[in-house]
Amino acid sequence: MAVRKIIRMGHPTLRVPARQITEQEIRSDAIAKLVEDMVETLHDYGGIGLAAPQIDEPIRLAIIEIPGGESRYGELEAIPLTVFANPSIEVLDERTAGYWEGCLSVPGLRGFVERPQHIRVTAKDLNGEDIDLTLKGFSATVFQHEFDHLDGRLYVDLIKDPHQLVFEEELARYGEPDG
Ligand code: ZN
Repeated sequence: MAVRKIIRMGHPTLRVPARQITEQEIRSDAIAKLVEDMVETLHDYGGIGLAAPQIDEPIRLAIIEIPGGESRYGELEAIPLTVFANPSIEVLDERTAGYWEGCLSVPGLRGFVERPQHIRVTAKDLNGEDIDLTLKGFSATVFQHEFDHLDGRLYVDLIKDPHQLVFEEELARYGEPDG
């Protein structure tokens, strides 16, 4: 196990679509080791999700772990540490809500992004079994943010108003800027 370096915005790997993983790869030792590294890296940096391209591995693999309870995003539904291979998203309701998103590949910044708030996620776990989840609210935002990394997208691409991209220290100090 090893803490890997998280690459930052500007690194070309963050901007290319990641490739699908094969059925054999999903159950391979190499992927198991990579996931161990991703978990250790996520816990070391601190965060609720990490996609493989963020450690310069351009494959369709991501982990998400949302601690439940009270947070700056309100009351959160807990999502235990889960590995998603080859995930896809179906939007069940186009209505959006916005959150101040952050990203380990864009350290220090927060941006206000609106996304659909009711989605279905399908993926494979590391045993090759199907995952099928329905998510609402902030959780729906987290999953869209993480899986965007697999398509070479960053949350900053989705900010409508550049005034709503700020440093997190200033956001904490001065509050939300007027749009
Ligand atoms: Zn991110």
